[in-house]
Amino acid sequence: MTLLELDNVVVEFPTRRGPLEAVKGLSLELDEGQILGLVGESGAGKSITGAAITGLIEPPGLIRSGEVRLRGQRIDNLPPEKIRRIRGKEIGAIFQDPLTSLNPVYTVGEQLVDTMRVHLGLDQKAARKRAIEWLAEVGIPAPEARLDQHPHQFSGGMRQRVVIALALCAEPKLIIADEPTTALDVSVQAQILALLKRLCRENGTAVVLVTHDMGVIAETADRVAVMYAGRLVEIGDVAQVIQDPLHPYTRGLMNSIPQIGNRDARLTQIEGAMPGLRNPAPGCAFAPRCPRAMDICRTTRPVPLAAGSGQVACHLFGEAQ
Ligand code: SF4
Ligand code: MG
Repeated sequence: MTLLELDNVVVEFPTRRGPLEAVKGLSLELDEGQILGLVGESGAGKSITGAAITGLIEPPGLIRSGEVRLRGQRIDNLPPEKIRRIRGKEIGAIFQDPLTSLNPVYTVGEQLVDTMRVHLGLDQKAARKRAIEWLAEVGIPAPEARLDQHPHQFSGGMRQRVVIALALCAEPKLIIADEPTTALDVSVQAQILALLKRLCRENGTAVVLVTHDMGVIAETADRVAVMYAGRLVEIGDVAQVIQDPLHPYTRGLMNSIPQIGNRDARLTQIEGAMPGLRNPAPGCAFAPRCPRAMDICRTTRPVPLAAGSGQVACHLFGEAQ
């Protein structure tokens, strides 16, 4: 069943030089329990897409047009207190730096207990019991003792485990995880991803996993959406997109990674740079870097059309020639 729909979402930031469109009309769908990787270079619009879903676009930035729907209900136009409630209960968030999700003043136990009292209506005693279970579940040793400690008493990896427990304990249907392991040691990254994947599978929680790291996608996601310059260029099943990428940009991403799982591989090794978001040229934004660019690519913007196991926005695909 479809859980999340983005329908032609445009996210705009006013600047002194006029409005800047960071996301230029993005449509995608996510099924219940599915893990969707959202990948692209820095500035492609993937984090802003995550923020648009969670109602966390920093004003004066705004969703200029389009809709975000959760189980068919619009959530992009709700008043702040309503979206805050959805963000706690229906949508959990995990960010790169666990300290942005944790309150330094309260013990981790207080934060877990409070979340479950508010969102699940548990009483103090039941919530405390569940909190201990959650800490054990995310692999924190001696959970009963750790419950009464503050976030700064945990290592980076342990803190991110606490954040995962905190995001999942309200039993959300959807988690937005933005570079959840980027700040962690390489040895810890794989453990945290495996944990996130296992718990989301067990709880039927869907995930939008924002990352620049194709290795993370390969290990974790069911589907992958590739963004370039504020637009979707390819979406499909992970196996197809990794083994048989269709869009020339996705192909470049794959070629730029010597080996899947090599976490040092960055998505910046394709010749040239992503164009600025301001005053985009007509046609395909990737044309200046594309080895297969044709005349039409410089005049007509390709739209996503059915290809492979999903959609591709490229004049080489999807149209009857
Ligand atoms: Fe390359 Fe043209 Fe496809 Fe853009 S539309 S990726 S320029 S072939
Ligand atoms: Mg980002």
